[in-house]
Order: sequence, then structure tokens, then C-alpha cells
Amino acid sequence: MALVYKDSVNSKNSDNSDQYFMEQAFNLAQQAEKINEIPVGAVVVYQGRIIAEGFNQSILHNDPSAHAEMLAIRQAGKYLNNYRLLDCTLYVTLEPCPMCAGLLVHSRIKRLVYASPDLKTGAAGSAFNLVCNEQLNHQIVVTGGVLREQCSQLLSSFFKRRRAEKKNKKLKSKRFIN
Ligand SMILES: [Zn+2]
Repeated sequence: MALVYKDSVNSKNSDNSDQYFMEQAFNLAQQAEKINEIPVGAVVVYQGRIIAEGFNQSILHNDPSAHAEMLAIRQAGKYLNNYRLLDCTLYVTLEPCPMCAGLLVHSRIKRLVYASPDLKTGAAGSAFNLVCNEQLNHQIVVTGGVLREQCSQLLSSFFKRRRAEKKNKKLKSKRFIN
């Protein structure tokens, strides 16, 4: 499947800062993992500084909209005192879902950088493309694959562990019944 790597103006410098900011998003993803949420983290950067951050907290808050991107974007709006995040970049460890991709368009964010593609539901080019769609009134510059290995590894080991835990639980309850 063709992925979207649109940022052709990437200089060596912005490559380095992309790595740096994705590292920060990765640290947040690890915080999500600690509380058993799907390990996804996000930061919003404005004028070279992190102004907002978030990690998945849907289970914790019984809130299906509490995705890393959603929380970071809300915080960034408050910080800037503006509902438009003009000239901001969102770094996130997993390609945004359709809900978050829609939010990014509403926020008028300039650029999106993600680590792992989400081939099943990613809405920045993998399964859909909502962030750079002519039918919508705002298009976002997208860079994919920054720290991909590291962030994918965190996700896959999380799901592996969770599957093992579920299997264990099942086995235990079987034993109990017998
Ligand atoms: Zn989302």
C-alpha cells in the first residue's frame, strides 16, 4: 500500500528536530502503557517548542474521544488562546484515526508527523486520507515513518502482552469452573 510521505522540504535540521520531538511523543506513549492504555503519545510544537502533550486515556476516563492527539490539540488551543492551531506541528507515535484526522483538519494545523503507519484504520494515507483531501477545506503536510521501528515495537509488544493476559485469564476461569 502506498504511504504518504509528502514533506519534500525536509532539511537535515528538521529531520533532527522531528526525531527529537517524536522521542518526546514516545515517552508519553510509554506513560500510556504504564496505565494499560494503548501506547500512543502526541505533542504539539509551535515555534520550536512543545506547547501541549497527550497520551491515550480512553479507558481511564471512560471517554472514547480521549486519544493522545485529541488531548494534545485541546491543550494547545488553550495555550494559544485560539481554536486555530496555525503554524503548529503535531507529532504522534501512531498514524491518526479518522476522528483525530478530522480534528486536525478542524484545527487548521500546518503539519503532521507520525511514526507507525496504521494500515487498518490510519486516516493520513494508509486506510483513508482525510488530512490531505481536496474535498475538505484544509490540507496538512504529512511526514510518516519518523522513529517508526521504536514506536511500532512498543505497540506490538503491548498487544502481545495483552493477548497473553487475556488467554491466561480464560485459562484460569476454566480451571475454576472445572
Ligand atoms: Zn484518534
